[in-house]
Amino acid sequence: MEALVDRQLRGQGTEEAEWLGWPAWKAVAGVDAARLVPEGHRAVMVAPHPDDEVLAVGGLLSCCAALGREVAMVAVTDGTASHPRSSEWPPERLAKERPLESSRAWRCLGLGDSQAIRLGIPDGGVAGEAARLAARLGEIFTPRDVVFTTWRLDGHPDHEATAKASIEAAARCGARLVEVPVWGWHWARPAEPHWPWSRMRRVALDADTVRRKRQAVACFASQLQPDRSTGAPPILLDSTVARAARDFEVVFA
Ligand SMILES: [Zn+2]
Repeated sequence: MEALVDRQLRGQGTEEAEWLGWPAWKAVAGVDAARLVPEGHRAVMVAPHPDDEVLAVGGLLSCCAALGREVAMVAVTDGTASHPRSSEWPPERLAKERPLESSRAWRCLGLGDSQAIRLGIPDGGVAGEAARLAARLGEIFTPRDVVFTTWRLDGHPDHEATAKASIEAAARCGARLVEVPVWGWHWARPAEPHWPWSRMRRVALDADTVRRKRQAVACFASQLQPDRSTGAPPILLDSTVARAARDFEVVFA
């Protein structure tokens, strides 16, 4: 099936107005943090790159922490390949700065006490390290975990490889797994036939959580500015930032 779906990430992708204007939203079932991560369970977010955790489920994880749930963050890569050929953002600077940006963002969301685990897998090379990643995740996951990760058809190779390794490791240890679209919003359009509509759940965010998530997204300075050395535009597109300002998040439960 995967090969039949065009998941190329081009331009600004599907406009946020097109998604928000989609009338079928009313039929999407809601779920909240307390039900997704029941008492006694731990929320574990497996992020391919530093910022995916906030873009995907920053609000939901913030609600988990407010409920007193344990939260752990697994950074698969340090995101060092975001600025090819850049003298402003060489890989060694990104390796230091991007994890710091994530930590600042987590503090905005009340997630400063979350456990942070960095796996140091090369950015852009997750698929080639899939077996090692699944083995490492198998050491981290426990049966009481609810694992969040990017969607298996998200469109970015690192996101899809991270999803597959997480699915494999979670199934082996009996942890529950929830996929979350990040780039999927970009390549897909409303009524996309490969979107898992029946698993789609909407998590409403209150005004304070939305505000804190916006502040958290603003912490990713390396991803929000044009690169003066190469002339490349910001990595996080306007459409991505607009989606992160929604008063809800979507998961595939
Ligand atoms: Zn990413």
